[in-house]
Amino acid sequence: MVVVTKTFPASDVGHLFDLGVRDFGENRDQDAVEKVRACSDMGLAELRWHFIGQLQTNKARSVAAYAHLVHSIDRLRLVSTLEAAAAARARTLGCLVQVDLDERPDGAAANRGGVSPARIAAVAAAVEAARHLALEGLMAVAPRVGDAATAFRQLASVADELRSTYPHAAVLSAGMSGDLEAAVRYGATHLRVGTAILGSRPHLG
Ligand SMILES: *Cc1c(COP(=O)(O)O)cnc(C)c1O
Repeated sequence: MVVVTKTFPASDVGHLFDLGVRDFGENRDQDAVEKVRACSDMGLAELRWHFIGQLQTNKARSVAAYAHLVHSIDRLRLVSTLEAAAAARARTLGCLVQVDLDERPDGAAANRGGVSPARIAAVAAAVEAARHLALEGLMAVAPRVGDAATAFRQLASVADELRSTYPHAAVLSAGMSGDLEAAVRYGATHLRVGTAILGSRPHLG
């Protein structure tokens, strides 16, 4: 369970820490940097920060400093930039390739990010080849429209295929507050849960 603390204050991370939570998800680098620093000032140790949002290339250096696992690898250019950033820090960064489950029949770009299933192999191979990146598996967000179970069933088959090439890439990050049961049913190893634990977020414009 990764508790998604985006928009919530570092004090909430402290409460969750006291309850035994160690895995926290953030989707904006600027907010994450502040929260990571605040948590460190609070003396919280051994937290694992999961970067779950769309990652701009110019934020890669920053994210490489604190992230334990980046869930949102969605293009080759991000792979090379993150590799350089991790190398500069002499760190190994865990990576998940984000799968686009929302592909439109006309091939138009999806609105929730990710790599089309047909392109997963190429992006995964690039991560695997990068010395300071560790290919750990796949991440997906269910499409806004349609049945989450159907999407997660498709994701499970994409994950099977990836594991047939990279048996160590066994992480499957799927499922949020609204669809976590379906995600578990189709093999999620990591759930990213925000509102079901912390309550509703203030609306961000
Ligand atoms: C915000 C967010 C979540 C958590 O969503 P909830 O519905 O609050 O559980 C999970 N994954 C991603 C990528 C998110 O941006």
